[in-house]
Amino acid sequence: MNLGRAAERLGITEERLQGLQETLIKRSSWPEPRLLRFEKTASGIEAGTVIFENGEIVYGYQKIRRALMLGPAIKRHFSGIVAVEEKMNGHNVRVTSVDGSIIALTRGGFICPYSTEVAKRLLPEAIFEEQPDLVLCGEMVGPENPYVPKDIYPTDTIDFYLFDLSRKNCKSTLGVHRTHEFAREHGIKAAALLGEFRAENAYEPVTRMVRRLGRQGREGVVMKDPENRRPPMKYTSSESNCNDLRVAFRYYNDYALDFFLSRAVREGFQSLEWRESEEERRARAKRLGESILLPMVETIQKKQSGENIVQRVQIRVKSLQTAREFEYHLRRSGMKAIFDQPEPEDDGYLVRITRLIMSTNDKTQALLEGEMW
Ligand code: ATP
Ligand code: MG
Repeated sequence: MNLGRAAERLGITEERLQGLQETLIKRSSWPEPRLLRFEKTASGIEAGTVIFENGEIVYGYQKIRRALMLGPAIKRHFSGIVAVEEKMNGHNVRVTSVDGSIIALTRGGFICPYSTEVAKRLLPEAIFEEQPDLVLCGEMVGPENPYVPKDIYPTDTIDFYLFDLSRKNCKSTLGVHRTHEFAREHGIKAAALLGEFRAENAYEPVTRMVRRLGRQGREGVVMKDPENRRPPMKYTSSESNCNDLRVAFRYYNDYALDFFLSRAVREGFQSLEWRESEEERRARAKRLGESILLPMVETIQKKQSGENIVQRVQIRVKSLQTAREFEYHLRRSGMKAIFDQPEPEDDGYLVRITRLIMSTNDKTQALLEGEMW
């Protein structure tokens, strides 16, 4: 691995990079190409940043901060124009090509074999033949997204929506307009650009959009400065917050505490900012309460009747090798999953996967037997 070259590009010394290698940077030698992966942010270099063996770097996708009080946050954070995009609910991938082959990196900087197969299927190869240093940042969404299955998008399987463009060895992104132009030119889908507003006028239209997206079960919006002078900001619908809680309480012992708290707090601020009537606020309280209690009771009942707490997902692959590799990929990410025998279909295989939700499973069993919290 050419560390000297990579260090220079990263703007740190080779010694510093070497030093990080034992702590915050992890080596990944599977699948090819081999790479170094920033597990945490270090020396101003975003977590998820990857250095390939040939010395090329793909920077981690930036963290997007969240507004709780939308109106004041827009005013404080933006000036001039704000572009509003739909926030797609799936998993983040960075698609690029290394030495001529297309790969999809997860947020953490692993090559995901399933996402890679999907990217190869959906994206025209010519993109990377013409511009081998491009990085397409986007969201994979749909019912056959094994990380975040959602059936709210117009696909029966999984789809890719572009939301940013970047280049290898380059921290910055090319901006909202270039991204959408690129998507049009190449006939690929992009997260919808819902509108552009002057910052001082943005609150009302954005709120209307978030309400409408919420009614459709969609997640919310990401607001971006078209000139890239300010980092983007996100804001989500109540329905999406509650859907997250529904999943998290079903598997209540497998999520970090902050996951629950932050979503409940979002509801408080939104309810206040939207100046809800008593009736509306009660409806919100009911929605919030139901998304906490109902899935939790279901989980306890399931365990009580002797069932295991699992999550069933499925993927469709062209080759059996992708299925095997994805199985290995999940295992190395610490996930326990059982893969059924692939079922042949016209153009590949359907693979049903049962994720074992171990911690919630064991905790619920113990509590049912009278163990204390
Ligand atoms: P973060 O680390 O940015 O706080 P997170 O991992 O908790 O985020 P999210 O709350 O989903 O994830 O918010 C950020 C993510 O939203 C991005 O990493 C990206 O995958 C996703 N996303 C969906 N639609 C868009 C969009 N239009 N523009 C930017 N990001 C988007
Ligand atoms: Mg997300």
